Amino acid sequence: MKQGGGTSSRALYERGLKVIPGGVNSPVRAFGAVGGVPVVFNRGEGPYLMDVDGQRFLDLVMSWGAIILGHAHPMIVSKITEAVKSGTSFGAPCPDEVKLAEHICGVVPSVERVRMVSSGTEAVMSAIRLSRAYTQRSKILKFRGCYHGHADAMLVRAGSGVATLGLPDSPGVPPGAAGDTLVARFNDLNSVIGLFDESKEDIAAVIVEPVAGNMGMIPPAKGFLEGLRSLTSDRGALLILDEVMTGFRVGPSGAQGLYGIAPDLTTFGKVIGGGFPVGAFGGQAEIMDQMAPAGPVYQAGTLSGNPIAMRAGLATLEYLADPSVYQGLESMSYAFAEALASEAERAGIALQTSVVGGMFGFYFAEDTVNSWEEAETCDRERFASFFHGMLEAGVYLPPSPFEACFISTTHGDPEVEYFRTAVRAAMSIL
Ligand SMILES: *Cc1c(COP(=O)(O)O)cnc(C)c1O
Repeated sequence: MKQGGGTSSRALYERGLKVIPGGVNSPVRAFGAVGGVPVVFNRGEGPYLMDVDGQRFLDLVMSWGAIILGHAHPMIVSKITEAVKSGTSFGAPCPDEVKLAEHICGVVPSVERVRMVSSGTEAVMSAIRLSRAYTQRSKILKFRGCYHGHADAMLVRAGSGVATLGLPDSPGVPPGAAGDTLVARFNDLNSVIGLFDESKEDIAAVIVEPVAGNMGMIPPAKGFLEGLRSLTSDRGALLILDEVMTGFRVGPSGAQGLYGIAPDLTTFGKVIGGGFPVGAFGGQAEIMDQMAPAGPVYQAGTLSGNPIAMRAGLATLEYLADPSVYQGLESMSYAFAEALASEAERAGIALQTSVVGGMFGFYFAEDTVNSWEEAETCDRERFASFFHGMLEAGVYLPPSPFEACFISTTHGDPEVEYFRTAVRAAMSIL
């Protein structure tokens, strides 16, 4: 057990270790939380990934949610192939960036203007700069266990990758960069009110993952997001919904559409790039027009609005414009979560599950999980054994107990049955 990747994966990983820090380009990929050697993949098709040893896995990571239409979707492949033939980057405006921005503004009512960047990290970093400039205040309030990318100010109590490594903060973040970041408890409005009272009108923005997906998966408690909306309005702070994960994944207008919350700013990433490196941030025109060159707040990017990435993002979002897509995704997420729950019950194993749109999560825990403080009490060792049991049975789960699972429009009933069989086998040896 705990071997992970096969012979060819191991060989590539060992070569990688010599030239890439830790052998990976993003820490969670190294299997630190579950042990063993990471699996190296060279092909994806629909809901499946193929590794370099010729093994096939049902994928429940889907590039951390980005690949919502399944790997190598023929329509996306054909659109980007066409785009590539006309050049891969202009460093100047292109038609598809305008169309993608129009599309986003059309389906997300709180967004009147949107700026494209190249990652979720960049989107958040820029939205924070903008909120500080707009309010002329300096503090940012975040929630313990929420991840907002790796910009200095956000690398405080940041969930999954950071928690998995056991680094509460990162060396190299100067005290000044993180000193203006306040940390409250997710799903606990009183902890937010307390910080507002202490900080005397210096909070520029509250940033939150509307469905927390970087500490396992925790939906917002009833009234939590509504409370943040009214509190920020009353206290003159902006509300930033970080929808890098939830945007276009939990519903046609993201978590804000699902829960009826209009934030001041929204950050996007993952799904909006259709598998390419794209992020974006947007909001009301009055706030967004503070961005250069319309306003004084600087932000720029050589490859921002890249024509191939814009084509892929636009094609993906157009496909998702049909609301029935999300009904299908959500009922499929429920089917996966139900398979987990019923097999756990059969095996007498304590398990909690949650579902929102095209994502679901589970914890090996006795009680419902509502915050990081509760999430971190889950049974991590049991998760690691389960992860490897699932891998043996041909299912690729996120290699950490503090990540959500993601499906695509290509995950169907046969995949649920395949999953159920794997879960039964993996749970029988826990
Ligand atoms: C993934 C993620 C980010 C960071 O996006 P990157 O593209 O990895 O930089 C930020 N916020 C949330 C909520 C995320 O899930």
